[in-house]
Amino acid sequence: MKAAFWYGHRDLRVMDTPEPVVKPGHVKVKIAWAGICGTDRHEYNGPVFIPVTKPNHLTGKIAPLILGHEFSGKIVEVGEGVSDWKVGDRITASGNLVCGECEWCKSGRVNLCERLAFNGIGQDGCFAEYIVVPTYQLFKVPDNVSLEKAVLAEPLACGVHSTKLIGDVSGKDVVVIGPGIIGISCVSAAKHNGAKRVLIAGVGNSNEARARCMGADEYVDVTKHDLVQYVKNWTNGRMAEVVYECVGIESTMENAVNVSRKAAQIMVMGVYEKPPKFPMNYFQEGERILLSSQAYVDELAIVLDRMSKETTPYEDLITRRISLDRIVEDGFEELMSNNNQHVKIAIKIADL
Ligand SMILES: [Zn+2]
Ligand SMILES: [Zn+2]
Repeated sequence: MKAAFWYGHRDLRVMDTPEPVVKPGHVKVKIAWAGICGTDRHEYNGPVFIPVTKPNHLTGKIAPLILGHEFSGKIVEVGEGVSDWKVGDRITASGNLVCGECEWCKSGRVNLCERLAFNGIGQDGCFAEYIVVPTYQLFKVPDNVSLEKAVLAEPLACGVHSTKLIGDVSGKDVVVIGPGIIGISCVSAAKHNGAKRVLIAGVGNSNEARARCMGADEYVDVTKHDLVQYVKNWTNGRMAEVVYECVGIESTMENAVNVSRKAAQIMVMGVYEKPPKFPMNYFQEGERILLSSQAYVDELAIVLDRMSKETTPYEDLITRRISLDRIVEDGFEELMSNNNQHVKIAIKIADL
């Protein structure tokens, strides 16, 4: 089969490789669609988490590895002991690879597993024609949801999870910083949980229409407006009660604190390449609350259910559809130069 292997910094190679062999408790999936995630882009320009010098602590695997963790497809083979899944099932999957034994796994917070690994980082991922995954990662795609739409369930689950951690957002004014797929997942989750109004801020306005379509009430292009002043006007001076920081740089973290009102909750979802300076005194004097969120547990099921019941055109979040052969030129290099213009680049691997 064809697969895209991560070999090193900006070195991703599409090569022929044997199809993976199904194991007990696992299924083999023929992949229809795969999505390029922000973490994949970080690895492409990295390494960040990909094991290069010593093998992954859970799987024992080391680079070169097939990158990618967002996919949808059909089961083509089931391993020994698998009874809940059958050949032909349409599925998507979580990326979490877990030990199943630590206190976090036992308490259900598998995304915090002591030995957490991830598809495409700790073992071969989905930028390939086939993947073998454990059944605990699987989610059934409802009959009326296309596999193209279902490839978005994984990133959208991040916003559902973080919103669950925040608790009650109903009736609140919410600000989201960063209109990429994670920011948009937060817009959608906050609106579904009854937020009064959601404002989203970004550089330029390429993603404005998509953010509005997913529920944003207001869009601010920070190249044209001062965000803090804008939020002040938007809230009549009250400022935001909930802020999601979905970029991961110093200025956006600072803005997240500065647009928040006293006792606000600030949810950090950005991945920081450098530790930011933090306006600690302003944060402290208002009894503000800092929260963070890591991926998801099983919130893909909630997203898939919404996709099946709603007419929201989730598939419009795909800003470009490419082939596996062109994953470097049309996918990763495009994101390296024009990241702000994309929400999700998706790879069509097979017609299923
Ligand atoms: Zn992802
Ligand atoms: Zn564990």
